[in-house]
Amino acid sequence: MTRRLGSGSLVIATHNADKLREIGALLDPYGAKCISAGSLGLPEPAETGTTFAQNALIKARAAAEASGLAALADDSGLSVTALDGRPGVYTANWAERQWFEGAPGRDWYMAMGKVEGMLAEKGADADRSAAFHCVLALAWPDGEYAIYEGRCDGTLTWPPRGLLGFGYDPVFVPSGSALTFAEIAPEAKHAISHRADAFSKLVAEQFPA
Ligand code: IMP
Repeated sequence: MTRRLGSGSLVIATHNADKLREIGALLDPYGAKCISAGSLGLPEPAETGTTFAQNALIKARAAAEASGLAALADDSGLSVTALDGRPGVYTANWAERQWFEGAPGRDWYMAMGKVEGMLAEKGADADRSAAFHCVLALAWPDGEYAIYEGRCDGTLTWPPRGLLGFGYDPVFVPSGSALTFAEIAPEAKHAISHRADAFSKLVAEQFPA
């Protein structure tokens, strides 16, 4: 029997304001009262897992144990077939760079270029298929948990195209589209994205009609 959240408070285990807003808006229609881990002063655990599910669960469990409430966390990234699934859980790390002394930041064009460089080394006929993944972990303070996995398949294009979206969107062309995620309206992306896929699975199980 699936454990359900009901209409109680739910800690969103992210310190990212954009993610909190997006998740809050998605769950609002179902009566979930979302509270951010940041507003409760919860620390961010180290993401030491080797899979998206492990990292999402580490974050959800830490927030549930510290708050005594149910908690939801996500982990996402890009897996490139010809690179044996890399960058995978290291998708954000591949963009890390030192802009100025002591001021680290993320350079998405450098990260996209790194992926493209590694694909180029595979030769002109390299498999350019890739998938964005999003895994949601829901954890309760007593240790029970549920995992919802979403994906969006596509291919990588070069050079990057489009100014919308974020991260690796300018090189990702979802299956069935001629445009990159950075060239389509956010609503169109949200209808087919890995995040939408994972959330629809969570909603179907946690808030059945
Ligand atoms: P995390 O889930 O916060 O660990 O972030 C994973 C990284 O994956 C992000 O920083 C992005 O670079 C990348 N990523 C996840 N989802 C998307 C997406 O929808 N478009 C582009 N990049 C994404």
